[in-house]
Amino acid sequence: VTPDPYILKLDGITVDFDGFKAIDNFSMTLERGQLRVLIGPNGAGKSTLCDTIIGRVQSAAGTVTFNGADITNLPEFEIVRRGICRKFQTPGVLPSLTVRDNLLVSARRDRRWWKGLGHGAKREEAEKVEALLDKIGLTERAETFARDLAHGEKQWLEIGMVVATGAELLLLDEPTAGMGPNETSKTAKLIHSLLGDHAVLVIDHDMAFVEELGAKVTVMHQGKFLKQGSVADVRADPEVAAVYLGR
Ligand code: ADP
Ligand code: MG
Repeated sequence: VTPDPYILKLDGITVDFDGFKAIDNFSMTLERGQLRVLIGPNGAGKSTLCDTIIGRVQSAAGTVTFNGADITNLPEFEIVRRGICRKFQTPGVLPSLTVRDNLLVSARRDRRWWKGLGHGAKREEAEKVEALLDKIGLTERAETFARDLAHGEKQWLEIGMVVATGAELLLLDEPTAGMGPNETSKTAKLIHSLLGDHAVLVIDHDMAFVEELGAKVTVMHQGKFLKQGSVADVRADPEVAAVYLGR
C-alpha cells in the first residue's frame, strides 16, 4: 500500500455565518512536509479557513481529512492533540516567562512526551529546546523575558512554540505582520528550515514574502477557490489580478 501523500485534504468546506457564506465549497490538498501559501484579498475567508481546520469554527458541509482521518468539526483540543497547531496574527507568547521557558512550556504539550516522561525525558526536552532556540535565531535571547523582545523576535518565538508542540501541520496566519524586509526574509528562511519534518500552511498577502517563500500558491476569493500554481503563474493570472484591484 502506498502511504497517503497528503497530510491535509479539504473537500467542499462551507462555513455559513447566519446566511453569509464566508467559505463556499472550498477544496484543496497539502502534501506531507510541504509548504503552501494561501493568499486572497482581505475578507476572502483565509483566517476562517484556518479556524475551520483547527475546529474553532464549524463547517456546514464538506470534510477535513488530516493524516487520513476525518477530523471535521472535532473539538479544537482533539485536533491539536492529533498534530495541528495554529499561530495567530498577533503573537501569543507568555510575556513574563523567558524565551527558553516559553519553548519549554510548549514542548511539554508535545503529545509524544506524555508516553515517556521519566528518566532522560528532561534532558531530551532541554536538548530539543536548545535546538529550537538555534533554529529560530534566539539563542542569545534565551534568558530574555518574552515581553522585552522586539516584534519580529516575538513572532519567531511563537513559530518556535508552535514547532515545540510537535505538530505535524503548522498553520501560520500572517507570520510577517508588522515586520520590515529584513525580518520578513529571516522568517521565510525559518519556515523553509521546518519543511520535511512539518507541513506548513502560510497565510499572507505580502507578495514580496510570498515571492521569497517560492512555494505553490492557492488563491482564495469570497470564500471560494480561485486559482492555484507557482507565484509566477498566479501573478500573471488576469482573474487573480482582477480580485486584487482596488486594494
Ligand atoms: P481573511 O482572513 O481572508 O481576511 P476572514 O476569514 O477573517 O478573511 O473573514 C472572511 C469573511 O467572514 C469576512 O467577510 C468577515 O467579515 C467574515 N467573518 C469572519 N468571522 C466572522 C464571524 N465570526 N461572524 C460573522 N462573520 C465573520
Ligand atoms: Mg485574516
